[in-house]
Amino acid sequence: MSLKIYTVPCRIGYMDNYSYILVDDDTLISAVIDPSETQPIVDELSKLKIKPQYILNTHHHFDHTDANLELKEHYGAKVVGNQADYKRIPGFDIGVNDGETFSLGKSKAEIIDVSAHTKGHILWYFKKDKALFTGDTLFNLCVGGLFEGTEQDMFLALQKIKSLPDDVLFYPGHEYTMHAAFFAKQYNQNSQEITQYLKNAEQRLRQGLPVGPVTLGIEKNCNPYLEADTIEDFCRIGE
Ligand code: ZN
Ligand code: FE
Repeated sequence: MSLKIYTVPCRIGYMDNYSYILVDDDTLISAVIDPSETQPIVDELSKLKIKPQYILNTHHHFDHTDANLELKEHYGAKVVGNQADYKRIPGFDIGVNDGETFSLGKSKAEIIDVSAHTKGHILWYFKKDKALFTGDTLFNLCVGGLFEGTEQDMFLALQKIKSLPDDVLFYPGHEYTMHAAFFAKQYNQNSQEITQYLKNAEQRLRQGLPVGPVTLGIEKNCNPYLEADTIEDFCRIGE
């Protein structure tokens, strides 16, 4: 009884998105999270012989929803996103709200509103499976830009993530680790953990693998934006 997760790199080399294919092992009900680009996702789905029933979006930006309509047409999948974003998510079918639970077969996701990168950005938290899909809110060693929210909003969003257990694995919407590496290393001087983090990351990338998933426990100690305990410290990062 568990959730299987497959990572699909999209827009490689220019936006470096990650879409994810989820399969509930028990029922074989499946979904695609943030379908960024049609072809790589369709290729992976065919390889896995999966026809997804759902498309789950973290937010409305085109690099997370661009394949919504094509996948919807191709597989008859239903598009699920924040009810508040029903006008901005292409092909919107099913609305979810903060604090609600969405069932993917027997796997259950809690919806966590983290409005900051965009108003209406949500996290998909599969509590029992210890998997958190963070879209453009949390990346490896950095966080998403503030398109529609304030620093205060992002700080609050990160506090919600910090309150989740350390053994949860997070799955980000982009591969940005190496962009953030230099700053994270400077911020965490003399930290063994960041040295190990970057060593692992470089190794994985050299093998053509995604850096993630990393546990929240490690991320809380290595990501400067998660390390900040007060809004003042958070705002000071990167100054
Ligand atoms: Zn975005
Ligand atoms: Fe994005």
